[in-house]
Amino acid sequence: MALIAIGQNRKMEDYLESVRRAGGEPVEVVVGADAPARILAGVDGVLLTGGGDVDPTLYGETPHDTFQAAEAGRDEFEMALAREAVARDIPLLAICRGMQVLNVAMGGTLIQDIPSQVPGALAHSVPQPRAGGAHEVWVAQGSRLSELLKDHMGDGETAHVNSRHHQSVKDIATGFEVTATSPDGVVEAMEKPGPTFVVAVQWHPENFWRTGEFRELFEGLVQAANGRKP
Ligand code: MN
Repeated sequence: MALIAIGQNRKMEDYLESVRRAGGEPVEVVVGADAPARILAGVDGVLLTGGGDVDPTLYGETPHDTFQAAEAGRDEFEMALAREAVARDIPLLAICRGMQVLNVAMGGTLIQDIPSQVPGALAHSVPQPRAGGAHEVWVAQGSRLSELLKDHMGDGETAHVNSRHHQSVKDIATGFEVTATSPDGVVEAMEKPGPTFVVAVQWHPENFWRTGEFRELFEGLVQAANGRKP
């Protein structure tokens, strides 16, 4: 069974259940427990989770008034984990903060506060998943994300998602492509084109494990992780 490393966070149960129901075996990794390279030697895939803001000084900006740091050490640890996973072609799914960590780790930057920095932005900090989602996203044709969600999207290109973020990708890291945007232009997903599964979404698919609504994302990760076992 594919072992999936999951970084520490405050809502672990949803991530654990999402991975289990996709057929993977979650392995919780705590900041500083081991060097990222050693952790990755023992797993088949990585899941980067939600949480606080990435320290803006890590992408050359001064922190905005709304900055709320993640747990001590998470930025450096998770950025190293992301870089190592990409360098070693280890399948990676990054969610919310995880997507932001991945982008910064690979050289990208972030919008620090959508409400004050994106004119005309939709509400992206919607506390509870609602029927119909917080907003829609337009998924890029031909992307891995589009393939993963093909049975999910009635028209083949629109998905309704939940949304609990006030930051998003600004300049996307070199080698990555935007694969979903919301109607206000906010980046909602990105991936690294190529044979290795490196997929990131800004919404929270793990909240839906009871209904399986975004199960395809976790199944994609687990399948990719299984695929690289000898
Ligand atoms: Mn959103």
